[in-house]
Amino acid sequence: TVIPPAVPGTAGDDLRVPLVTGGEIGYANLDHAASAPCLSAVRRAVDEFLPWYASVHRGAGFASQVSTKVYERARRAVGAFVGARSSDTVILTRNTTDALNLLARAVPKGTAVVLFDTEHHAALLPWRGRHVYRVPAPRTRHEAVRALAETLGRCPEGPRLVVVTGASNVTGEVLPIAELARVAHAAGARIAVDAAQLAPHRAVSLRELDADYVALSGHKLYAPFGAGALVGRADWLRAAEPYLSGGGASKLVARHDDGLGVVWNTGPERHEAGSPNTVGAHALGVACTEVASGRERIEAHEADLLARLDRGLASVPGLRVLRLFDDDGDRVGTVSFVIDGLSPGLLAAVLSAEYGIGVRDGAFCAHIATRRLITAAGGEGGQAVRVSIGLGTTREHVGRLVTALREITGRGPRWTYAENEGRWAP
Ligand code: PMP
Repeated sequence: TVIPPAVPGTAGDDLRVPLVTGGEIGYANLDHAASAPCLSAVRRAVDEFLPWYASVHRGAGFASQVSTKVYERARRAVGAFVGARSSDTVILTRNTTDALNLLARAVPKGTAVVLFDTEHHAALLPWRGRHVYRVPAPRTRHEAVRALAETLGRCPEGPRLVVVTGASNVTGEVLPIAELARVAHAAGARIAVDAAQLAPHRAVSLRELDADYVALSGHKLYAPFGAGALVGRADWLRAAEPYLSGGGASKLVARHDDGLGVVWNTGPERHEAGSPNTVGAHALGVACTEVASGRERIEAHEADLLARLDRGLASVPGLRVLRLFDDDGDRVGTVSFVIDGLSPGLLAAVLSAEYGIGVRDGAFCAHIATRRLITAAGGEGGQAVRVSIGLGTTREHVGRLVTALREITGRGPRWTYAENEGRWAP
């Protein structure tokens, strides 16, 4: 037997949940791609900091000094985590959605934005009103690189920005970011990586990938909600109108005869107006440091579980896995599927109520991609079930899921949809 490598523990490891059949069971959280449980080390760090937090950058009191140090240390930890260059800026945001919306506001007027239609809505939607060019859906990673080059060739002269997901939140497939970055730069474009799904599972380095921007969320990276980051080239961000107007972003405000005169900060504070989420930033910074130092163990742990999950899912009758690419490239532990004749909503409800397994069902904020992938897999409809593993996952969780899916497909659905309650019930 192979002894699983010891990985950083999470605060959700001993959660128990009730079963509809009576009793309770250890919670099998197979929904890490939505939000990952907090690391125990992050929980301890937050607990220690809570009595100390105070206003950053403004107060002279000791607690304010501590908070400012902690906040700026978090900024450095995030920068180190994504391999930021010394010229890059690290802006602390609420999450990836916030980070990408900030970037969308900061790109110069007339920028052509190039997108794959596999993007999560957070990366797909903030560009409305801009010139958006869509890359036709590629079937291989190689084709993705070629299709990007062709699409960039169709863009007019002027600033260009490619936005691409690092790992799909639907299929877990990892995109060839370094190659895409090379093609983007050869065409004079910049590239922004949505690393919400990649950063928890693989090292992401702006320097090594030669990418221009990266966005991530703390709550997918084993920290609680409310903190994320946009890291990358400072020039567009320094020149852009502040994302929010208010204290912190403004260096000097004075009344003139003809109105208000404002001098805005040019550092990251320019886009961080208002009292920042210092506790969230601290949690994010600690999570970054912990994940970076446990990277090898995390990858080994997840590779073992993903191999088991793949083998198990292949043994479930009528189960069709969704895939972006026909080639066998890198994948993180996120797998979406449909099962012939079973509604994804029903399946997710039964897995939760009868087996204590948490999964996600739906179209995963990537409606266009999910619908296309279901059709390509020979399935029907626009919804699927998504299973995603991470540090809180054990071999028992994966085994329990596979057993459950085999039992459910073997017996046929016994549940009905309770219209008045809007949910499936036994
Ligand atoms: N991009 C991807 C690939 C995601 O999976 C998600 C979250 N599902 C987001 C962006 C948005 O993240 P958040 O909700 O934390 O802003």
